[in-house]
Amino acid sequence: MRLILLGPPGAGKGTQAQRLVEKYGIVQLSTGDMLRAAAAEGTPVGVRAKSIMDRGELVPDDVMIEIIAERIGHSDTVHGFILDGFPRTVAQAEALDELLDARDLGLDAIIEITVDEAELIERIAGRAKETGGTRGDDKSTATRLEVYRKQTAPVAEHYRQKGVLVTVDGMGSVDDVARLIDEQLEALVEA
Ligand code: AMP
Repeated sequence: MRLILLGPPGAGKGTQAQRLVEKYGIVQLSTGDMLRAAAAEGTPVGVRAKSIMDRGELVPDDVMIEIIAERIGHSDTVHGFILDGFPRTVAQAEALDELLDARDLGLDAIIEITVDEAELIERIAGRAKETGGTRGDDKSTATRLEVYRKQTAPVAEHYRQKGVLVTVDGMGSVDDVARLIDEQLEALVEA
C-alpha cells in the first residue's frame, strides 16, 4: 500500500499516518520529522533547514526531492509507505510522479484531510503549548497556513485532475476521521 496524506498543518496527518502504519505494516515517511532529525544532528541540510522551518516557510524543492528519492529506495519501503508532508508543491508532486514511474511503482490513494482555518489555528496554538512553543509563534503559524494555501493546496488539485484524490472531512475526532479514511480506502480496495 502506497499512500499520500495531504492536508494543512494541524489537520491530523501525523496521527492518522501512525495509525495507518500499524494497520497496513507500511512505513511513515514524514519529511518534517526527517528535517527535524537532520537539524538535531547538525548536518549541513539540517542547519540550513532549521531557520526556514522556524519561519514556517518551505525548504527548497531540489533538497526535498533528493531526500525523498533517497528514502524511498530503502528496503523498509517494500510493503509500502505513507508520505506525510510530501509533496508540498506541484514541482515536488511532478518529481514524485517521475520517480515512482521510473521504479514502476503506483500510488494506491492520495488522501486529503480538510479542516476549517479557524479550527486549525486553535489546534496549532494548542500543540505549540504542549511542545513548549517549539512549533512556532503566531507569525510562523500564519506563514505556514499561507504557504499551505498558496503552494500546497494546488498539489491536491494536481491529484484531483488525475482522478486519484479522495477527500476526507477532518473536523471530527481522531476516531471519526480514522473511520472516514478507512471507509474510503476499503472502497478503493474493493473497486
Ligand atoms: P511538518 O512537520 O510536516 O509540518 O514540517 C515542518 C516544516 O518542515 C515545514 O513547515 C517546512 O518548513 C519543512 N518541510 C517539511 N516537509 C517539506 C516539504 N515537502 N517541502 C518543503 N518543506 C518541508
